[in-house]
Amino acid sequence: MSRNFSNLLFVLAILIFITACVCRSDRNSEPPPQPPANSQTKANQATKTTPENPDKKKDEGDFIVEHLEVANQRYAEIDRQVKDEKLLEKAADKLNRALIMPKDLYLRTKDCNDVNAYYNSDEESVTVCYELMEHFFKTFKSAGDSDDKAYDKMFAAVQFVFLHEIGHALIDYYKLPITANEEDAADRCSAYINLEELGDEGVKAVLAAADAFAIESKQGTHTDRQLADEHLLQEQRFYNSLCMTYGSNPDKYSSFVTEGYLPKDRAVRCPGEYQRTVDSWKNLLEPWRKD
Ligand SMILES: [Zn+2]
Repeated sequence: MSRNFSNLLFVLAILIFITACVCRSDRNSEPPPQPPANSQTKANQATKTTPENPDKKKDEGDFIVEHLEVANQRYAEIDRQVKDEKLLEKAADKLNRALIMPKDLYLRTKDCNDVNAYYNSDEESVTVCYELMEHFFKTFKSAGDSDDKAYDKMFAAVQFVFLHEIGHALIDYYKLPITANEEDAADRCSAYINLEELGDEGVKAVLAAADAFAIESKQGTHTDRQLADEHLLQEQRFYNSLCMTYGSNPDKYSSFVTEGYLPKDRAVRCPGEYQRTVDSWKNLLEPWRKD
């Protein structure tokens, strides 16, 4: 990752100074789910298998990066860096090597006029808004992180959110059976991919997201709207993120418990909880895995 972010920091510093926080919400949220216009076609696509291997699905799509022009020049610098670093291309490459897709899914970063990241089934896309990245940067800065650290953690937290949105897309594209809250399932999908597939970088992503959840949870009391929202509360997402990470390697992350971040009563259940998450997602994705 390039450390050349002085221009971005300058832009952000100006923004923080001259604007009030534009955050509509301290959580990523999606547009309300809409019935897919071509649900019949989608259902048919989702059940196709290859003649050679009846258990494997047919590969009829790719993760495709779509670069859009920034509308607001305040995000021009971060847009240039995301494109120069080929962040989306690298993610698309990993996903394309791992997963069979029934149709294309477009990956985008752009300015949205909203602090958000979302999967849109009509547009067949996952979008991360630059406003959300800025929000993460400000969140980490507000807790005392240096510019350098906040910038680093911003990308890590965005990786967690991006894979959460990929989780929504996979649930929809593959017609995966999810019997509880889909928002939690998407968080678990992100934790599974990050912790099981992406090594230290994945751990960093889950812990950066946990950190953001913890900071955000201290920034106000819950409104009825937040309590009614399908997303879990930030406190719960914080503990779930810690539980998944601790559960993935209790010895390595024992300090979560000894230092009081993760209550013992929850911690004892986390290895089993993590294993169930891993087994469930592995089973669900198995027919869609490339060999
Ligand atoms: Zn979601």
